[in-house]
Amino acid sequence: MAVAVAAWDADVVAVAVLVAAAASDEGSRSESPDAGESEHVILAVASGKGGTGKTLVATSLALSLEGQGQVQLLDCDVEEPNAHILLRPALTRSRPVVVPVPRVSKERCTYCRICSEACAYNAIAVMGKNTLVFPELCHGCGVCTYVCPEKAITEKEREVGVVEEGRAGEIRFVHGRLTIGEAMAGPVIRAVKGRVDPGGAVIVDVPPGNSCPVVEAVQGSDFCLLVTEPTPFGLHDLALAVELVRKLRIPCGVVINREGCGDQGVERYCAQQHIPVLLKIPLDRRIAELYCRGQSLVAGMPTWRPAFLDLWESVREQAEAAVVSDARDRRP
Ligand code: SF4
Ligand code: SF4
Repeated sequence: MAVAVAAWDADVVAVAVLVAAAASDEGSRSESPDAGESEHVILAVASGKGGTGKTLVATSLALSLEGQGQVQLLDCDVEEPNAHILLRPALTRSRPVVVPVPRVSKERCTYCRICSEACAYNAIAVMGKNTLVFPELCHGCGVCTYVCPEKAITEKEREVGVVEEGRAGEIRFVHGRLTIGEAMAGPVIRAVKGRVDPGGAVIVDVPPGNSCPVVEAVQGSDFCLLVTEPTPFGLHDLALAVELVRKLRIPCGVVINREGCGDQGVERYCAQQHIPVLLKIPLDRRIAELYCRGQSLVAGMPTWRPAFLDLWESVREQAEAAVVSDARDRRP
């Protein structure tokens, strides 16, 4: 079920483009009809809203799989990475993430405005005899450089974050940190995903919500686990997340965390939408206390390990079934 790493490096600049690319043949998940022959599965762990226990599930899965072959955890929640708090990896490598931003030559610029009209992000503007660049708005797409008839634009690098790597036991760990004050998480998420190991289990901890960084983190995955809580708020954001992953044509399943605290709305919704509920974690004070101490569920309560191994097996089966069904649907 290998996914082309190159697809994760694609320069995507907006949700619409991301969705379209991911829905295309190249941008979507693997389509190998013989998916069962490969061990490589990329699982995105997402949630429509923050605070549902997404990182608890992602880290518990990684810990459960330790010793069962290659396992990698990518924390793509680059605005607030916190998987390292639960896994405590020894970070041994750090590298900056840079984006190219334009620099305008006063000598060459004729103030024609072609660049500012071409920029989709209002990151470059011509005011009288000044061509101004707003680096915080610039997505580094290179369009202005391309369209400038005078070749007045060159590019310089601007650091927007870092990617750090290391190991937590046998788990290969990678996370990104967006520089405080920066608005664009995409380049840092792409840099984290660019470190994916071919082969083995890859677990991607996705940022909360349903915006561009989520699309960036989820696309290219073989399966998406949506972690939610059984409340009206959980249901509302779960429905949005389901809409998003379906647009990306990624199969999904649900984990209900804090079961017993709310109502049956999430389960009813999943049944109506034919979305499997793959694991329920009860509302349990001991689990909350573990989390408060910075311990993952499987680390603090190893009796949960078989349940997470079963969860992984279900994910693999569901992902493989989706690939086969996809291939069947596309057959002429
Ligand atoms: S397109 Fe080139 S010449 Fe025209 S305003 Fe922009 S930088 Fe100047
Ligand atoms: S690189 Fe792209 S986003 Fe940045 S100023 Fe140029 S056109 Fe706008």
